[in-house]
Amino acid sequence: MPRAKCAYTKCSTVTREKSIYCSDNCRKAAARANYKKRNAPVNKSTSAAVEQGMTAEEFEQSANRLLTSRVPLPPVPDKILATQVADMGFDTDQHAVACFSDYHFGGKVDPEVTGGIGGYDVATARYRLTDWRDGVLRFTQMMQTTLPVPVLHILALGDDMEGNGHMYGTQAMEMELSPYFQFLGFVADMTDILVSLQSRFEKIHIYKVFGNHGRMSGSKKDAFDPDNIELMAWQTIAARCELAAPGKFTFDISSAFFQVVDILGYSFYLRHGDGVNLNATYTGVVENKLAMNSIVGQVLNYMVLGHHHTASEREEEIDGDVLSNGCFVGPSLLALKMRRPRANRPSQEMFFVHPEKGITHRHRIHLATTEEVRNITTVKRWSE
Ligand SMILES: [Zn+2]
Ligand SMILES: [Zn+2]
Repeated sequence: MPRAKCAYTKCSTVTREKSIYCSDNCRKAAARANYKKRNAPVNKSTSAAVEQGMTAEEFEQSANRLLTSRVPLPPVPDKILATQVADMGFDTDQHAVACFSDYHFGGKVDPEVTGGIGGYDVATARYRLTDWRDGVLRFTQMMQTTLPVPVLHILALGDDMEGNGHMYGTQAMEMELSPYFQFLGFVADMTDILVSLQSRFEKIHIYKVFGNHGRMSGSKKDAFDPDNIELMAWQTIAARCELAAPGKFTFDISSAFFQVVDILGYSFYLRHGDGVNLNATYTGVVENKLAMNSIVGQVLNYMVLGHHHTASEREEEIDGDVLSNGCFVGPSLLALKMRRPRANRPSQEMFFVHPEKGITHRHRIHLATTEEVRNITTVKRWSE
C-alpha cells in the first residue's frame, strides 16, 4: 500500500509501505548526496571532492590531487603568538571558585590501625588547611599575572568537623576533640583563613551546605536538617569575618540540603552528597543530577558535591557536569575496608569561571605527599 512520496528529493514516486524511499537506488542516491553534502569543502577554492565507486588508480590520482591542492590550516592567531601580556588579548575578568569540604576537624585516623595507609589528626588537619589556603592564593596569583580575578566564590560543601561521636558506635574512638572543641577550633582557624584569602580579592562569596557529620543526632533518621553544628559554626564565622573585614564577604548559609548558585551566568547545584547512591558512586550522582534537572526545570550546569572523598569529574550532558570534591582526611578505615577499597591523596578542587566559556582552568590542590599517606612497613619473617 503506497504511503508517501519517496524521500529522495529528485524523485516523486510514491513509496512502498514502511519504506521512505521508493527503491534501493533512491536510498543509495540519497546516502551519496548526504555524504557529498557533509564533506563539501568549506573553502570554495579547493576541489577536494571524493567520488563514490572509484577504482584504486582513480582513488590514488584523486588523493594525489588532493594533497597537492591542499588548503593550509588557518595560522596560529597573533594574540596566541604574542610574548607581551598586553598583546595577548586577555581582556575578560574571570572569577575564582574554590571547593572546601570534608575537613573532618577533630577526627583521627591512626596509622597503626590503617596499617600505615593514611593518618590524620588535628595537627595534620591544620597544616593541610594552611596548604589549601596557600594553594588557592597561589593559583589565583598565577591567573592574576595575565587577567583580572576580582572575586572568589567558596563552595563550602560540608563535613567541616568530625561530629558528635555518636554517628556510629566507635566514632568517638576515632576522634581527638569533642564537638564543642571542634567548633571552637574550626571557627577560629576558618575565620583566620578567610581573612587572609581576601588579600587577593575584591569580594569573597561563601555558599554553605551542611554535611552529614554536622548532624546533632546519632542516627540520620532522627536528624532534622538545619539542626547541624556546621551551620552554627558558619554563622559565627560570618559574624567574625564581617567584623574583621566589613563589606568584603557575603555568606549564603543554607538551611536546606542544597543550593543553586549563579556564578557569571552558570548554575552551580551544590549539595554535600550523602544520600546520593553510595553503591554506585559514579553513576548514582549522575542519575541524581538528571533527576534534579527535572525537579528544578533546567539543565543545571555544574553539580558540585563532597562526601565521597574522591575527586572526579563527569560530563554526561550538554552543558551539564558533575564534580566531586576530594577531602582533607585521605584514606580512612572506612575507605580502606569497603568492598572496593580505595585510597587517594587528600585534595580540594579549584577552578576559574569565564562568562562565556564556563569553567576554564581546573586545579586540584593536593594537600599531602604520597609518602605521607602511604607508609607501610611490610613484615618479613622468612628473611633468615
Ligand atoms: Zn566527609
Ligand atoms: Zn559526608
